[in-house]
Amino acid sequence: MNLARLISETAAKYADKPAIIFEGRTWNYRDFDHQVHHYAAILQHLGINKGDRVAVQLPKCIEFLFLHFAILSIGAIALPLNPDYRPEEIVYFLTDSSSSLLVTTHPLYTKVQSELQHLSALQILLKENIPTFQTEEFIPDYATGGDDIAMICYTSGTTGRSKGAAISHRNLIANIQSLYQAWAWSDRDILLHVLPLFHVHGLNVAALGCLYAGATMIMFEKFEPRRAWETLTSQNCTIFMAVPTIYQRLMNEWEKLEPKPNLQQMRLFISGSAPLSDPQFYQFEKLTGFRILERYGMTETGMNASNLIAPEHRKAKSVGFALSGVEIRIVNADGDQVKGSEVGEVWIRGENVFQGYWQMPDKTAEAFVNSWFRTGDLGFQDPDDNNRLYLVGRAKELIITGGFNVYPKEIENILESHDAVKESAIIGLPDQDFGEKVVAAIALREDMSIAPEVLINYCKSRLASYKCPKQIFFVTELPRNAMGKIQKNILAQQLK
Ligand code: ATP
Ligand code: MG
Repeated sequence: MNLARLISETAAKYADKPAIIFEGRTWNYRDFDHQVHHYAAILQHLGINKGDRVAVQLPKCIEFLFLHFAILSIGAIALPLNPDYRPEEIVYFLTDSSSSLLVTTHPLYTKVQSELQHLSALQILLKENIPTFQTEEFIPDYATGGDDIAMICYTSGTTGRSKGAAISHRNLIANIQSLYQAWAWSDRDILLHVLPLFHVHGLNVAALGCLYAGATMIMFEKFEPRRAWETLTSQNCTIFMAVPTIYQRLMNEWEKLEPKPNLQQMRLFISGSAPLSDPQFYQFEKLTGFRILERYGMTETGMNASNLIAPEHRKAKSVGFALSGVEIRIVNADGDQVKGSEVGEVWIRGENVFQGYWQMPDKTAEAFVNSWFRTGDLGFQDPDDNNRLYLVGRAKELIITGGFNVYPKEIENILESHDAVKESAIIGLPDQDFGEKVVAAIALREDMSIAPEVLINYCKSRLASYKCPKQIFFVTELPRNAMGKIQKNILAQQLK
Protein backbone atom coordinates (compact mmCIF):
# COMPACT_ATOMS: atom_id res chain seq x y z
CA MET A 1 0.00 0.00 0.00
CA ASN A 2 1.12 3.54 -0.76
CA LEU A 3 0.83 5.76 2.31
CA ALA A 4 -0.35 8.76 0.27
CA ARG A 5 -3.14 6.64 -1.17
CA LEU A 6 -4.21 5.62 2.31
CA ILE A 7 -4.38 9.27 3.36
CA SER A 8 -6.22 10.18 0.16
CA GLU A 9 -8.82 7.54 1.05
CA THR A 10 -9.27 9.04 4.52
CA ALA A 11 -9.60 12.43 2.86
CA ALA A 12 -12.42 11.14 0.63
CA LYS A 13 -14.22 9.78 3.65
CA TYR A 14 -13.96 13.01 5.68
CA ALA A 15 -14.18 15.49 2.79
CA ASP A 16 -16.01 18.30 4.60
CA LYS A 17 -14.26 17.94 7.91
CA PRO A 18 -11.44 20.30 8.94
CA ALA A 19 -8.13 18.50 8.45
CA ILE A 20 -5.62 21.23 9.24
CA ILE A 21 -6.02 24.65 10.78
CA PHE A 22 -2.78 26.50 10.16
CA GLU A 23 -2.39 29.92 11.78
CA GLY A 24 -6.15 30.34 11.81
CA ARG A 25 -6.87 29.25 8.25
CA THR A 26 -8.77 25.98 7.73
CA TRP A 27 -8.26 23.31 5.07
CA ASN A 28 -10.87 20.60 5.11
CA TYR A 29 -9.97 17.10 3.96
CA ARG A 30 -11.18 17.79 0.40
CA ASP A 31 -9.05 20.97 0.15
CA PHE A 32 -6.10 19.12 1.59
CA ASP A 33 -6.39 16.30 -0.94
CA HIS A 34 -6.76 18.78 -3.83
CA GLN A 35 -3.64 20.58 -2.74
CA VAL A 36 -1.70 17.32 -2.51
CA HIS A 37 -2.76 16.49 -6.08
CA HIS A 38 -1.90 19.98 -7.25
CA TYR A 39 1.60 19.71 -5.79
CA ALA A 40 1.99 16.23 -7.26
CA ALA A 41 1.16 17.63 -10.72
CA ILE A 42 3.82 20.33 -10.25
CA LEU A 43 6.41 17.72 -9.28
CA GLN A 44 5.55 15.59 -12.30
CA HIS A 45 5.75 18.66 -14.50
CA LEU A 46 9.32 19.15 -13.22
CA GLY A 47 10.11 15.60 -14.31
CA ILE A 48 10.20 13.99 -10.87
CA ASN A 49 9.76 10.24 -11.18
CA LYS A 50 9.37 7.21 -8.99
CA GLY A 51 12.37 6.77 -6.69
CA ASP A 52 13.71 10.32 -7.18
CA ARG A 53 14.68 12.13 -4.00
CA VAL A 54 12.96 15.43 -3.26
CA ALA A 55 14.47 17.45 -0.44
CA VAL A 56 12.15 19.81 1.38
CA GLN A 57 13.67 22.50 3.51
CA LEU A 58 10.91 24.77 4.71
CA PRO A 59 10.03 26.51 7.93
CA LYS A 60 6.92 24.98 9.48
CA CYS A 61 4.11 25.64 7.00
CA ILE A 62 1.06 23.97 5.49
CA GLU A 63 2.80 23.61 2.11
CA PHE A 64 5.23 21.22 3.73
CA LEU A 65 2.41 18.73 4.29
CA PHE A 66 0.96 19.14 0.77
CA LEU A 67 4.38 18.49 -0.66
CA HIS A 68 5.18 15.58 1.57
CA PHE A 69 2.14 13.58 0.51
CA ALA A 70 2.52 14.76 -3.09
CA ILE A 71 6.03 13.31 -3.19
CA LEU A 72 4.82 9.98 -1.81
CA SER A 73 1.83 9.87 -4.15
CA ILE A 74 4.04 9.92 -7.25
CA GLY A 75 6.32 7.24 -5.85
CA ALA A 76 9.19 9.64 -5.17
CA ILE A 77 11.17 9.79 -1.92
CA ALA A 78 10.74 12.65 0.55
CA LEU A 79 13.75 14.10 2.33
CA PRO A 80 12.65 16.54 5.03
CA LEU A 81 15.42 18.91 6.12
CA ASN A 82 15.74 21.10 9.18
CA PRO A 83 15.61 24.80 8.17
CA ASP A 84 18.39 25.48 10.68
CA TYR A 85 20.94 23.35 8.87
CA ARG A 86 24.09 25.22 7.85
CA PRO A 87 25.04 25.37 4.15
CA GLU A 88 27.70 22.63 4.54
CA GLU A 89 25.12 20.34 6.08
CA ILE A 90 22.61 20.97 3.31
CA VAL A 91 25.23 20.23 0.70
CA TYR A 92 26.02 16.99 2.54
CA PHE A 93 22.36 15.89 2.65
CA LEU A 94 21.67 16.79 -0.98
CA THR A 95 24.84 15.09 -2.20
CA ASP A 96 24.41 12.06 0.05
CA SER A 97 20.87 11.53 -1.25
CA SER A 98 21.64 12.71 -4.81
CA SER A 99 18.40 14.65 -4.69
CA SER A 100 16.76 15.75 -7.94
CA LEU A 101 14.92 18.68 -6.45
CA LEU A 102 15.22 21.02 -3.47
CA VAL A 103 12.06 22.81 -2.40
CA THR A 104 12.91 25.76 -0.19
CA THR A 105 12.14 29.43 0.43
CA HIS A 106 13.81 32.42 -1.10
CA PRO A 107 15.54 33.54 2.13
CA LEU A 108 16.83 30.02 2.85
CA TYR A 109 17.97 29.60 -0.73
CA THR A 110 20.05 32.77 -0.78
CA LYS A 111 22.09 31.35 2.13
CA VAL A 112 23.11 28.21 0.23
CA GLN A 113 22.87 29.26 -3.41
CA SER A 114 26.61 29.62 -4.00
CA GLU A 115 27.40 26.26 -2.36
CA LEU A 116 24.93 24.45 -4.61
CA GLN A 117 26.54 25.54 -7.90
CA HIS A 118 28.36 22.26 -8.44
CA LEU A 119 25.22 20.13 -7.97
CA SER A 120 24.36 20.42 -11.64
CA ALA A 121 21.53 17.85 -11.61
CA LEU A 122 19.70 19.59 -8.78
CA GLN A 123 16.57 21.59 -9.60
CA ILE A 124 15.33 24.28 -7.21
CA LEU A 125 11.70 25.11 -6.52
CA LEU A 126 11.03 28.13 -4.35
CA LYS A 127 7.88 28.11 -2.26
CA GLU A 128 7.21 31.70 -3.30
CA ASN A 129 7.02 30.59 -6.95
CA ILE A 130 4.62 27.70 -6.54
CA PRO A 131 1.38 28.52 -8.41
CA THR A 132 -1.68 28.33 -6.18
CA PHE A 133 -4.16 27.13 -8.81
CA GLN A 134 -4.53 23.75 -10.45
CA THR A 135 -2.38 23.63 -13.55
CA GLU A 136 -2.24 20.07 -14.71
CA GLU A 137 -3.58 16.62 -13.96
CA PHE A 138 -1.41 14.42 -11.86
CA ILE A 139 -0.98 10.72 -12.45
CA PRO A 140 -0.66 8.91 -9.14
CA ASP A 141 1.90 6.15 -8.81
CA TYR A 142 0.13 4.20 -6.12
CA ALA A 143 1.81 1.04 -7.39
CA THR A 144 4.79 2.32 -5.45
CA GLY A 145 4.31 1.30 -1.84
CA GLY A 146 5.04 -1.63 0.44
CA ASP A 147 8.80 -2.05 0.69
CA ASP A 148 9.56 0.90 -1.57
CA ILE A 149 11.25 3.79 0.22
CA ALA A 150 8.86 6.61 1.10
CA MET A 151 11.30 8.88 2.84
CA ILE A 152 14.85 9.34 3.94
CA CYS A 153 14.72 10.83 7.38
CA TYR A 154 17.89 12.08 8.99
CA THR A 155 18.48 11.16 12.63
CA SER A 156 18.83 14.00 15.12
CA GLY A 157 22.63 13.82 15.18
CA THR A 158 22.73 13.57 18.97
CA THR A 159 25.63 11.11 19.02
CA GLY A 160 27.44 12.08 15.82
CA ARG A 161 26.71 12.96 12.23
CA SER A 162 23.04 12.47 11.25
CA LYS A 163 22.36 9.28 9.30
CA GLY A 164 19.72 8.99 6.59
CA ALA A 165 17.23 6.32 7.57
CA ALA A 166 15.45 4.85 4.55
CA ILE A 167 11.87 4.25 5.65
CA SER A 168 9.39 2.32 3.52
CA HIS A 169 5.67 2.88 3.04
CA ARG A 170 5.07 -0.37 4.92
CA ASN A 171 7.19 0.83 7.86
CA LEU A 172 5.20 4.06 8.14
CA ILE A 173 1.84 2.35 7.84
CA ALA A 174 2.71 -0.36 10.39
CA ASN A 175 3.79 2.33 12.80
CA ILE A 176 0.75 4.55 12.42
CA GLN A 177 -1.65 1.62 12.72
CA SER A 178 -0.13 0.46 15.99
CA LEU A 179 -0.26 4.00 17.38
CA TYR A 180 -3.87 4.42 16.27
CA GLN A 181 -4.73 1.45 18.41
CA ALA A 182 -2.44 2.24 21.33
CA TRP A 183 -3.57 5.84 21.77
CA ALA A 184 -7.19 5.20 20.76
CA TRP A 185 -7.10 7.85 18.03
CA SER A 186 -10.50 8.75 16.61
CA ASP A 187 -11.98 11.16 14.10
CA ARG A 188 -13.21 13.22 17.06
CA ASP A 189 -9.65 14.03 18.11
CA ILE A 190 -8.24 17.54 17.87
CA LEU A 191 -4.46 17.69 18.03
CA LEU A 192 -2.47 20.77 18.89
CA HIS A 193 0.65 20.37 16.74
CA VAL A 194 3.68 22.27 18.06
CA LEU A 195 6.59 20.14 16.80
CA PRO A 196 8.85 20.62 13.79
CA LEU A 197 7.71 18.81 10.64
CA PHE A 198 11.12 17.65 9.47
CA HIS A 199 11.47 15.06 12.22
CA VAL A 200 9.68 11.71 12.79
CA HIS A 201 7.99 12.97 15.93
CA GLY A 202 6.17 15.89 14.31
CA LEU A 203 5.68 14.26 10.93
CA ASN A 204 5.22 10.49 11.20
CA VAL A 205 3.73 10.41 14.68
CA ALA A 206 1.79 13.64 15.18
CA ALA A 207 0.73 14.86 11.72
CA LEU A 208 0.36 11.41 10.19
CA GLY A 209 -1.50 10.09 13.22
CA CYS A 210 -4.00 12.87 12.86
CA LEU A 211 -4.55 12.52 9.10
CA TYR A 212 -4.76 8.74 9.32
CA ALA A 213 -7.50 9.03 11.96
CA GLY A 214 -9.51 11.65 10.09
CA ALA A 215 -8.94 13.96 13.04
CA THR A 216 -8.22 17.71 13.04
CA MET A 217 -4.86 19.30 13.66
CA ILE A 218 -4.23 22.85 14.75
CA MET A 219 -0.79 24.07 13.76
CA PHE A 220 1.20 27.18 14.47
CA GLU A 221 4.45 28.26 12.92
CA LYS A 222 6.14 28.37 16.31
CA PHE A 223 5.61 26.99 19.76
CA GLU A 224 4.68 29.64 22.29
CA PRO A 225 3.59 28.39 25.72
CA ARG A 226 0.86 30.91 26.48
CA ARG A 227 -0.72 30.50 23.08
CA ALA A 228 -0.52 26.73 23.46
CA TRP A 229 -2.44 26.77 26.75
CA GLU A 230 -5.01 29.17 25.29
CA THR A 231 -5.52 27.00 22.22
CA LEU A 232 -5.76 23.75 24.16
CA THR A 233 -8.57 25.35 26.15
CA SER A 234 -10.46 27.43 23.59
CA GLN A 235 -10.27 24.90 20.73
CA ASN A 236 -11.29 21.91 22.86
CA CYS A 237 -8.14 20.03 21.95
CA THR A 238 -8.02 16.39 22.95
CA ILE A 239 -4.44 15.40 22.26
CA PHE A 240 -1.02 17.00 22.49
CA MET A 241 2.49 15.74 21.73
CA ALA A 242 5.78 17.29 22.69
CA VAL A 243 9.32 16.81 23.90
CA PRO A 244 10.30 17.29 27.57
CA THR A 245 11.72 20.80 27.02
CA ILE A 246 8.33 21.92 25.73
CA TYR A 247 6.57 20.41 28.75
CA GLN A 248 8.98 22.30 30.97
CA ARG A 249 8.11 25.59 29.28
CA LEU A 250 4.41 24.81 29.53
CA MET A 251 4.76 24.23 33.27
CA ASN A 252 6.70 27.46 33.78
CA GLU A 253 3.91 29.30 31.97
CA TRP A 254 1.15 27.51 33.91
CA GLU A 255 2.48 28.98 37.15
CA LYS A 256 1.83 32.47 35.78
CA LEU A 257 -1.68 31.81 34.44
CA GLU A 258 -4.75 32.97 36.33
CA PRO A 259 -7.30 31.48 36.06
CA LYS A 260 -5.76 28.13 35.23
CA PRO A 261 -6.66 26.62 31.85
CA ASN A 262 -9.77 24.48 31.75
CA LEU A 263 -8.79 21.26 30.00
CA GLN A 264 -12.14 19.54 30.05
CA GLN A 265 -11.86 17.94 26.59
CA MET A 266 -8.24 16.95 26.86
CA ARG A 267 -7.46 13.25 26.93
CA LEU A 268 -3.76 12.77 26.22
CA PHE A 269 -0.50 14.58 26.80
CA ILE A 270 2.24 12.53 25.14
CA SER A 271 5.99 12.94 25.52
CA GLY A 272 8.96 11.45 23.72
CA SER A 273 12.21 11.98 21.79
CA ALA A 274 14.16 12.54 24.99
CA PRO A 275 13.80 11.29 28.57
CA LEU A 276 11.12 12.94 30.68
CA SER A 277 12.59 13.41 34.13
CA ASP A 278 10.89 12.24 37.31
CA PRO A 279 10.28 15.78 38.59
CA GLN A 280 8.76 16.75 35.22
CA PHE A 281 6.40 13.77 35.27
CA TYR A 282 5.19 14.47 38.82
CA GLN A 283 5.11 18.24 38.59
CA PHE A 284 2.99 18.20 35.43
CA GLU A 285 0.47 15.94 37.12
CA LYS A 286 0.45 18.05 40.25
CA LEU A 287 -0.20 21.22 38.29
CA THR A 288 -2.64 20.08 35.62
CA GLY A 289 -4.08 16.84 36.94
CA PHE A 290 -2.84 15.04 33.82
CA ARG A 291 -0.31 12.26 33.87
CA ILE A 292 1.97 12.52 30.84
CA LEU A 293 2.05 9.41 28.66
CA GLU A 294 5.67 8.71 27.72
CA ARG A 295 6.61 6.70 24.67
CA TYR A 296 9.86 5.62 23.03
CA GLY A 297 10.82 5.69 19.40
CA MET A 298 13.49 6.67 16.94
CA THR A 299 13.94 7.76 13.35
CA GLU A 300 14.95 4.26 12.25
CA THR A 301 12.02 2.42 13.79
CA GLY A 302 9.23 4.87 14.37
CA MET A 303 7.60 4.13 17.71
CA ASN A 304 8.61 1.07 19.71
CA ALA A 305 7.01 1.27 23.11
CA SER A 306 4.40 3.30 24.89
CA ASN A 307 2.75 3.67 28.25
CA LEU A 308 -0.91 2.79 28.28
CA ILE A 309 -3.98 4.87 27.74
CA ALA A 310 -5.27 4.06 31.23
CA PRO A 311 -3.55 6.68 33.46
CA GLU A 312 -2.90 4.14 36.22
CA HIS A 313 -0.67 2.28 33.74
CA ARG A 314 1.58 5.26 33.10
CA LYS A 315 4.69 5.23 35.18
CA ALA A 316 7.46 7.79 35.66
CA LYS A 317 10.83 6.74 34.15
CA SER A 318 9.23 3.94 32.13
CA VAL A 319 8.54 4.16 28.40
CA GLY A 320 5.87 1.48 28.71
CA PHE A 321 5.28 -1.68 26.74
CA ALA A 322 6.15 -2.89 23.23
CA LEU A 323 3.57 -1.62 20.74
CA SER A 324 1.59 -4.17 18.80
CA GLY A 325 3.69 -5.66 16.00
CA VAL A 326 6.94 -4.61 17.71
CA GLU A 327 9.24 -7.11 19.42
CA ILE A 328 11.72 -5.91 22.01
CA ARG A 329 14.69 -7.87 23.26
CA ILE A 330 17.37 -6.82 25.77
CA VAL A 331 20.78 -8.13 24.83
CA ASN A 332 24.11 -8.27 26.70
CA ALA A 333 27.59 -7.55 25.37
CA ASP A 334 27.90 -11.15 24.10
CA GLY A 335 24.79 -10.77 21.98
CA ASP A 336 22.69 -12.99 24.26
CA GLN A 337 19.29 -12.11 25.62
CA VAL A 338 19.67 -11.03 29.27
CA LYS A 339 17.97 -12.75 32.17
CA GLY A 340 15.32 -11.10 34.32
CA SER A 341 15.63 -7.36 34.63
CA GLU A 342 19.31 -7.01 33.70
CA VAL A 343 20.39 -3.97 31.72
CA GLY A 344 21.43 -4.47 28.11
CA GLU A 345 21.08 -3.00 24.64
CA VAL A 346 17.54 -2.66 23.33
CA TRP A 347 16.98 -4.60 20.09
CA ILE A 348 13.87 -4.16 17.98
CA ARG A 349 12.16 -6.30 15.36
CA GLY A 350 8.97 -5.62 13.45
CA GLU A 351 7.40 -4.13 10.35
CA ASN A 352 8.17 -0.68 11.75
CA VAL A 353 11.94 -1.19 11.38
CA PHE A 354 13.54 0.79 8.53
CA GLN A 355 15.26 -0.61 5.44
CA GLY A 356 18.77 0.57 6.22
CA TYR A 357 20.92 3.72 6.26
CA TRP A 358 20.91 5.38 2.87
CA GLN A 359 24.18 4.69 1.04
CA MET A 360 25.82 3.37 4.22
CA PRO A 361 26.02 -0.41 3.78
CA ASP A 362 28.62 -0.75 6.55
CA LYS A 363 26.59 1.21 9.09
CA THR A 364 23.51 -0.77 8.08
CA ALA A 365 25.31 -4.10 8.45
CA GLU A 366 26.57 -3.07 11.90
CA ALA A 367 23.08 -2.07 12.97
CA PHE A 368 21.39 -5.39 12.26
CA VAL A 369 21.84 -8.86 13.74
CA ASN A 370 19.66 -11.30 11.81
CA SER A 371 16.56 -9.17 11.49
CA TRP A 372 17.01 -7.42 14.84
CA PHE A 373 17.88 -3.73 14.86
CA ARG A 374 20.36 -2.62 17.50
CA THR A 375 19.05 0.69 18.81
CA GLY A 376 22.18 1.73 20.71
CA ASP A 377 19.90 2.45 23.68
CA LEU A 378 20.38 0.70 27.01
CA GLY A 379 17.46 -0.48 29.06
CA PHE A 380 15.81 -3.23 31.02
CA GLN A 381 12.43 -4.87 31.24
CA ASP A 382 10.50 -5.72 34.37
CA PRO A 383 9.39 -9.36 34.08
CA ASP A 384 7.01 -8.85 37.01
CA ASP A 385 5.20 -6.06 35.18
CA ASN A 386 4.53 -7.52 31.71
CA ASN A 387 8.03 -6.63 30.52
CA ARG A 388 7.54 -2.94 31.06
CA LEU A 389 10.52 -1.17 29.47
CA TYR A 390 12.85 1.30 31.18
CA LEU A 391 15.61 3.16 29.32
CA VAL A 392 18.79 3.96 31.20
CA GLY A 393 20.70 5.84 28.51
CA ARG A 394 22.59 5.32 25.32
CA ALA A 395 25.32 2.71 24.91
CA LYS A 396 27.64 5.46 23.62
CA GLU A 397 27.07 7.45 26.80
CA LEU A 398 27.71 4.60 29.22
CA ILE A 399 30.65 5.48 31.47
CA ILE A 400 33.08 2.81 32.58
CA THR A 401 35.05 4.03 35.56
CA GLY A 402 37.54 1.74 37.29
CA GLY A 403 35.76 -1.20 35.67
CA PHE A 404 32.30 -0.21 36.94
CA ASN A 405 29.40 0.72 34.67
CA VAL A 406 27.78 4.05 35.37
CA TYR A 407 24.50 4.98 33.70
CA PRO A 408 24.36 8.78 33.52
CA LYS A 409 20.60 8.96 33.85
CA GLU A 410 20.61 7.46 37.34
CA ILE A 411 22.87 10.25 38.60
CA GLU A 412 21.06 12.94 36.61
CA ASN A 413 17.81 11.89 38.28
CA ILE A 414 19.38 12.32 41.73
CA LEU A 415 20.92 15.69 40.88
CA GLU A 416 17.66 16.98 39.41
CA SER A 417 15.81 16.06 42.57
CA HIS A 418 17.86 18.79 44.30
CA ASP A 419 16.02 22.11 44.60
CA ALA A 420 18.89 24.18 43.25
CA VAL A 421 19.33 22.15 40.06
CA LYS A 422 17.46 23.02 36.90
CA GLU A 423 19.09 20.47 34.64
CA SER A 424 22.13 18.25 34.58
CA ALA A 425 24.19 16.10 32.27
CA ILE A 426 26.59 13.42 33.43
CA ILE A 427 29.46 12.54 31.13
CA GLY A 428 32.69 10.57 31.31
CA LEU A 429 35.98 12.36 30.76
CA PRO A 430 39.27 10.52 30.17
CA ASP A 431 41.09 9.76 33.40
CA GLN A 432 44.52 8.23 33.95
CA ASP A 433 43.60 6.12 36.96
CA PHE A 434 40.00 5.16 36.23
CA GLY A 435 39.88 5.12 32.44
CA GLU A 436 36.99 7.52 32.65
CA LYS A 437 35.83 9.76 35.45
CA VAL A 438 32.28 10.85 36.15
CA VAL A 439 31.72 14.60 35.82
CA ALA A 440 28.55 16.68 35.88
CA ALA A 441 27.51 19.78 33.98
CA ILE A 442 24.81 21.59 35.87
CA ALA A 443 22.53 24.49 35.13
CA LEU A 444 21.15 25.96 38.34
CA ARG A 445 17.69 27.38 38.81
CA GLU A 446 17.41 31.13 38.59
CA ASP A 447 18.85 32.99 41.59
CA MET A 448 20.29 29.81 43.08
CA SER A 449 23.86 29.18 44.07
CA ILE A 450 25.42 26.17 45.69
CA ALA A 451 28.91 24.86 46.35
CA PRO A 452 29.95 21.91 44.17
CA GLU A 453 30.90 19.87 47.30
CA VAL A 454 27.37 20.19 48.62
CA LEU A 455 25.99 18.62 45.44
CA ILE A 456 28.64 15.92 45.41
CA ASN A 457 27.77 15.05 49.03
CA TYR A 458 24.10 15.07 48.12
CA CYS A 459 24.89 12.37 45.57
CA LYS A 460 27.15 10.46 47.96
CA SER A 461 24.38 10.10 50.49
CA ARG A 462 22.17 8.52 47.82
CA LEU A 463 24.51 6.62 45.49
CA ALA A 464 27.54 4.33 45.59
CA SER A 465 30.58 6.59 45.55
CA TYR A 466 31.99 5.37 42.19
CA LYS A 467 28.82 6.76 40.58
CA CYS A 468 29.15 10.22 42.11
CA PRO A 469 30.58 13.09 40.09
CA LYS A 470 34.23 13.80 40.82
CA GLN A 471 33.86 17.29 39.45
CA ILE A 472 31.00 19.66 38.79
CA PHE A 473 30.93 22.33 36.10
CA PHE A 474 28.29 25.02 36.31
CA VAL A 475 26.89 26.16 32.97
CA THR A 476 24.13 28.62 32.12
CA GLU A 477 22.49 26.13 29.78
CA LEU A 478 23.16 22.69 28.31
CA PRO A 479 23.77 22.37 24.55
CA ARG A 480 20.63 20.95 22.91
CA ASN A 481 19.63 20.17 19.35
CA ALA A 482 16.38 20.97 17.53
CA MET A 483 14.51 18.19 19.34
CA GLY A 484 15.63 19.43 22.73
CA LYS A 485 18.13 16.63 23.18
CA ILE A 486 21.27 17.28 25.18
CA GLN A 487 24.32 16.98 22.93
CA LYS A 488 26.78 15.23 25.19
CA ASN A 489 29.46 14.95 22.51
CA ILE A 490 29.55 18.74 22.26
CA LEU A 491 29.47 19.08 26.03
CA ALA A 492 32.41 16.69 26.39
CA GLN A 493 34.41 18.77 23.89
CA GLN A 494 33.61 21.93 25.86
CA LEU A 495 34.52 20.42 29.23
CA LYS A 496 37.75 18.82 28.03
P1 ATP B 1 21.60 10.15 16.31
O1 ATP B 1 21.07 8.77 16.03
O2 ATP B 1 21.91 10.90 15.07
O3 ATP B 1 22.69 10.19 17.32
P2 ATP B 1 19.15 10.50 17.82
O4 ATP B 1 19.31 9.06 18.19
O5 ATP B 1 18.89 11.45 18.94
O6 ATP B 1 20.39 11.01 16.98
P3 ATP B 1 16.45 10.28 16.87
O7 ATP B 1 16.20 9.14 15.96
O8 ATP B 1 15.71 11.53 16.66
O9 ATP B 1 17.98 10.65 16.77
O10 ATP B 1 16.17 9.88 18.37
C1 ATP B 1 16.01 8.56 18.81
C2 ATP B 1 16.59 8.42 20.20
O11 ATP B 1 15.93 9.30 21.11
C3 ATP B 1 16.40 7.05 20.79
O12 ATP B 1 17.37 6.14 20.31
C4 ATP B 1 16.52 7.33 22.28
O13 ATP B 1 17.88 7.40 22.67
C5 ATP B 1 15.93 8.72 22.41
N1 ATP B 1 14.54 8.67 22.92
C6 ATP B 1 13.39 8.68 22.24
N2 ATP B 1 12.33 8.62 23.05
C7 ATP B 1 12.82 8.56 24.30
C8 ATP B 1 12.25 8.51 25.62
N3 ATP B 1 10.94 8.51 25.80
N4 ATP B 1 13.09 8.46 26.67
C9 ATP B 1 14.43 8.45 26.49
N5 ATP B 1 15.02 8.53 25.31
C10 ATP B 1 14.24 8.59 24.22
MG1 MG C 1 19.98 7.45 17.07
